Amino acid sequence: MAIVHNDFSLQRMNTFGLNARASLFSSPENIDALSSILEGYDYNQQPLLVMGEGSNILFKTDFEGLIVRPGMKGIELFEEDEQEVWVKVGASENWDNWIAVATENGWHGLENLSLIPGSVGSAPVQNIGAYGVELKDHFAWLDAWDLQQQKLVRFDRKECRFGYRSSTFKNESRGRYIITHITFRLDKEPHLQLDYGPVKEAFLKAGGTTPMELRAAIISIREQKLPDPTINGNAGSFYKNPLVDRAIFKCIRVDFPLIPSYPESENQVKIPAAWLIEKAGWKGKKVGNVGTWPTQPLVIVNYGGATGQEILEFSEQLRNDVDKQFGIWLEREVNVI
Ligand SMILES: Cc1cc2nc3c(=O)[nH]c(=O)nc-3n(C[C@H](O)[C@H](O)[C@H](O)COP(=O)(O)OP(=O)(O)OC[C@H]3O[C@@H](n4cnc5c(N)ncnc54)[C@H](O)[C@@H]3O)c2cc1C
Repeated sequence: MAIVHNDFSLQRMNTFGLNARASLFSSPENIDALSSILEGYDYNQQPLLVMGEGSNILFKTDFEGLIVRPGMKGIELFEEDEQEVWVKVGASENWDNWIAVATENGWHGLENLSLIPGSVGSAPVQNIGAYGVELKDHFAWLDAWDLQQQKLVRFDRKECRFGYRSSTFKNESRGRYIITHITFRLDKEPHLQLDYGPVKEAFLKAGGTTPMELRAAIISIREQKLPDPTINGNAGSFYKNPLVDRAIFKCIRVDFPLIPSYPESENQVKIPAAWLIEKAGWKGKKVGNVGTWPTQPLVIVNYGGATGQEILEFSEQLRNDVDKQFGIWLEREVNVI
């Protein structure tokens, strides 16, 4: 039976470092403990929130309800053939620790996702991605507790409806499932993904040839570019890179001929949100204790003592300015609670 804490401080459990509290908090380590906590819980009376390590959450205020942080551990080689392995990982394993274990064991494919903060159980929610690789590329299936049916269910890749920083768990199924385990499909033979220019450059410059060296190059790039949340509170990219219809993009390009873009589909292009934010005058801007990170303006930083409300207001002003200038409404990547 898992312990349920009352009036629980979340300050150490969110990477913005916000001083929010939850009226109830529990971290069940297995399915029996999870189901016993939820038995009889009245979701209509008090909401329920699932969380991992709080690296993609902005608490506007205290949470009046139950926070469940799945505590399932374990990294288990489930099946293998000549080319591939299937590995089942518990939701509460730390993501980067799992990548370290996988790389050491010769299970390949996820190296480019090294050093992304958070837990394994949260990774499918926004189909985490970086440097040309997404979780979905090596995903086999996941197990989740269905709060409606009160039972364990399994999702394959198709059912997760993965997209760019999105899945069914962030959209139509939001709040219905608690992911407990994920099974990954990884390669025994490494196929290094070096399409992203700076990664290739750093990797080759360091004389890299192995997946372990690719992981080291990724870690080094991230450490140089992104603020360390243990020093400057943040939740990574605050907004997604917007997808824009090609016709609209052509109109914007008349006024901004240097606007960068990447083809997304026949009809759409992706525009770097960081470029839009910089051109709207928000790169390195600070208001009180909140600001954008000088080398990556897509990251909003709590420079110390900011409230969730202040961070939210800052992000909204930024979004309004981008909209005024480009007619593009940025979509949040961070989950505002
Ligand atoms: C410095 C920094 C860099 C980052 N870089 C990247 C990056 O390169 N790419 C990227 O994709 N992301 C990035 N992120 C965002 C973040 O690391 C990921 O979104 C990560 O997967 C969040 O994990 P978490 O455990 O902290 O989730 P949380 O923030 O605790 O939760 C995130 C969401 O998932 C839901 N959730 C959590 N656990 C479960 C579960 N078990 N079942 C169902 N729902 C659940 C929560 O309700 C919430 O909506 C970055 C964040 C930081 C701080």
